[in-house]
Amino acid sequence: MKRANTRPVRAGSVTIGGGNPIVVQSMCATKTTDLDATTSQARMLHEAGAGLVRIAVDSAKDVEALAEIRARVPQANLVVDLQENYRLVTAVAPHVNKVRYNPGHLYHHEKQKPVRDKVALIAETAVKHDLALRVGVNCGSVDPEMAAKFEGADEPLLDGVSAMVESALEHCRILDDLGFTRYVVSMKDSDPRKVIEGNTRFAAARPDVPLHLGVTEAGMLPDGVIKTRIAFEQLLSRGIGDTLRVSLTLPFAEKWREVEAGKQIIADVEAGRFRSVPVFQDHGLNIISCPSCSRVENEAFVDLAFKVKEMSAYAKDYDITIAVMGCRVNGPGETDDADLGLWCAPNFVNLKKGEHELGAFPYDVVLDRLKAELDAIMEEKKRSLATA
Ligand code: SF4
Repeated sequence: MKRANTRPVRAGSVTIGGGNPIVVQSMCATKTTDLDATTSQARMLHEAGAGLVRIAVDSAKDVEALAEIRARVPQANLVVDLQENYRLVTAVAPHVNKVRYNPGHLYHHEKQKPVRDKVALIAETAVKHDLALRVGVNCGSVDPEMAAKFEGADEPLLDGVSAMVESALEHCRILDDLGFTRYVVSMKDSDPRKVIEGNTRFAAARPDVPLHLGVTEAGMLPDGVIKTRIAFEQLLSRGIGDTLRVSLTLPFAEKWREVEAGKQIIADVEAGRFRSVPVFQDHGLNIISCPSCSRVENEAFVDLAFKVKEMSAYAKDYDITIAVMGCRVNGPGETDDADLGLWCAPNFVNLKKGEHELGAFPYDVVLDRLKAELDAIMEEKKRSLATA
């Protein structure tokens, strides 16, 4: 399989890019502070073949737990996912091999401090602790300034791609300027078309930088793998992509299926077996759900996502998107693009219709309310079809 001539980036015992085998990754969905659950999930993912295992860290308690998980699973290459609190990088660095930061969340803290200085701290810490970095941009959480700058720059189906690509390129320039080149980049969205377009544009601009491929919130089996395949087969067959993660909503005990799916897609592309339909068929019901991680506000989230899929099956022929998200990090942003969106809080679920908040509902009530809203949208669509 032809591969882009990217530079090699070592992360622990694996090397991403430079023509090395494509590294399959996954992420623990358990609470990081739940030591036994996260240790067994990290071990399970490593044994399933994940070259890198990611863990979410948001607090000092998470950092303590991470140190213990590191000690318990020394064989795995660990990655930490830093979202809003980038300053945790100095605390997590001794326990991991790679750090992912999201440029779209750097503005949350120390608003007066230039982004360059925040990136400099992350890069210096990476050098000191022999770490690799990932600049991980999500279409659903690009920083507001960048989003505003590229408002309307793309055709509707690719809305947000220019801001996503420019955010990634900007951080490459900052890191290069700081003299730090041991990084990879990812540009993710829940729409495979945007993932294809974003990564293709970026690879053309920076063919030297290794890319981490992913379709965020791809959802449950089999839809999640189908959406992911559409993007990965298009990109890998063009030689784009040096590491990847298949984000699936799965019960904790089945998280290994993410690794299995990733390995299968690589093997198929290498063998010239393409299973995806070339163009993303965005007709019919589309369920977007996140793969869950330590930030999930209530572990009932995974069960809720499966119940939403089950309950909404009767609407399969309607062009409706329902998003189910596990927490407030990506929840609000990713649900904006959906017709109906749910994002979890500890004791209730927020329900939105597009960008319009409908309220917060207890977990045992929200499904009925969602069905009522779904019925209303279906009626609206029937009426508009009848009058068209
Ligand atoms: S939406 Fe929240 S719970 Fe879901 S994967 Fe993203 S950060 Fe984790």
